Amino acid sequence: MTHLMQTDGKDGKRIPGGRLFVVSAPSGAGKTTLCNAVRRYLPDLVYSVSSTTRPPREGEQEGRDYFFVTEAQFREGIDKGKWAEWARVHDNYYGTAARFIEDHLDAGRDVLLDIDVQGAAQILKLYPNAVTIFIMAPSMEILRQRITARGLDSGPVIDKRMKNAEAEIACRGMYRHLLVNDDLEAAVARFVSILKGGAA
Ligand code: ADP
Ligand code: 5GP
Repeated sequence: MTHLMQTDGKDGKRIPGGRLFVVSAPSGAGKTTLCNAVRRYLPDLVYSVSSTTRPPREGEQEGRDYFFVTEAQFREGIDKGKWAEWARVHDNYYGTAARFIEDHLDAGRDVLLDIDVQGAAQILKLYPNAVTIFIMAPSMEILRQRITARGLDSGPVIDKRMKNAEAEIACRGMYRHLLVNDDLEAAVARFVSILKGGAA
């Protein structure tokens, strides 16, 4: 199976099969900004498209941003073992199709999953060699400023996101790389380096 084929060979050469990356971050830490920035440097990296029961936001496209499904469809996916991982996040269900990951890895393509901490824990069980990255803002104060500056959320929602952020940050030890998104250019460079396999 693919997840047993990702380690380096003794001669240092890659054994065929793509690499799996998992990125998580509390809302507002800059994950969207960083992921969009690295796309320019790594055009062949496949961004996993999750399924979700959350309604589409303005500008989001079916199949590009998410597959938008009903709760019944999502539950059917659970019953049929469709999801490599799934979780309830902010009152909605999100899941990654096992087939999506396997098909791309088998074809030798590197895949990036943008999923929450619950999903990351499940992926690590299935793919112990997955390269995990946790993105953080430099401080809780700056995190709050960024969420506020983004202008998408009301006061109570910001408070809820800050509370969730504390719980997520408590799980950061599970991740191989901690990426502090302070100076944007430096954070993009480090992210690209990790994805290229150059960062320890
Ligand atoms: P997330 O996807 O993690 O919720 P966003 O990428 O939407 O976060 O970023 C939240 C806000 O912070 C946005 O307004 C973005 O422009 C800003 N931001 C992201 N990275 C930085 C950075 N390194 N320095 C300053 N502001 C940033
Ligand atoms: P949003 O609704 O803002 O796009 O995403 C909310 C949260 O759900 C983010 O933390 C994002 O990483 C997470 N998420 C998106 N897709 C998945 C998925 O397939 N599985 C899991 N576990 N989390 C996901």
